[in-house]
Amino acid sequence: MEGVPGSSKMQPEIFHKKPEESREERKRAKGESKSETRGTFACGFCPLNEHFDYKGTKPPFARQLLYLEDCYIMKDPFSPLNQGETLVLGADCSFCKTAVCLGCSIFYTKRFCKKCALAHIKDLPKQLHKKIIDLSKDEKDVT
Ligand SMILES: [Zn+2]
Ligand SMILES: [Zn+2]
Repeated sequence: MEGVPGSSKMQPEIFHKKPEESREERKRAKGESKSETRGTFACGFCPLNEHFDYKGTKPPFARQLLYLEDCYIMKDPFSPLNQGETLVLGADCSFCKTAVCLGCSIFYTKRFCKKCALAHIKDLPKQLHKKIIDLSKDEKDVT
């Protein structure tokens, strides 16, 4: 008798394999992480290319915020923690689904990239026309 309890051998082997991966899958199945896709936002019109932390309407790191559209959102690296400062990089054009930065699009009830804004200019209020025209003018200046 060495005092080692014989029961130590009885640990089932499954115990050692904690199903870490299936936890992720379960989360996905619930649809929770649907809009929490990190990645790189690349504007379809200008060279803007930036990492984003969240895509959706309600960034988990800034709960007081609720956007009207699915935005590409980045935590503001320059603001102190817990301030919930965010930077909206852009969103998907609701017509052509191209990712566009704020500078290449307008928001009027939904997101319009500058191309679609121009195509739908007659459906948009007059006060936006100048902006839309300015947006498409930019295109010539940027390379
Ligand atoms: Zn852009
Ligand atoms: Zn568009």
